[in-house]
Amino acid sequence: MSGEHPLMKREKRTVKVMINIYCKAHHECGGKLCVECNELLEYAEKRLDKCPFQEKKTPCGICSIHCYKKSMRERIRVVMRYAGPRMLLRHPVLTFHHVLKRLRRNKKGRNK
Ligand SMILES: [Zn+2]
Repeated sequence: MSGEHPLMKREKRTVKVMINIYCKAHHECGGKLCVECNELLEYAEKRLDKCPFQEKKTPCGICSIHCYKKSMRERIRVVMRYAGPRMLLRHPVLTFHHVLKRLRRNKKGRNK
């Protein structure tokens, strides 16, 4: 997609990296994503394309809308829980932005 905001590109890259980490650890697919994980990735990217917040969005895991359908939400949650801490080692920059957004949001919540 052309003209996509850099933040949205980064968000897609983050999700892709996370699913890759998870798939590599759990499924034997010879270095590429298995059918199920690929389906999940495509779904996640589609949700990002349709996200009403776009570049102002929070990480999907803490988003208030929860646009994922239930079965996909469960799957992406498992992936993120597993891959999140491991991202920190492999992709510190991607993870850093993710965590930073989370911290900002938590702060706001506490001041309420
Ligand atoms: Zn897989």
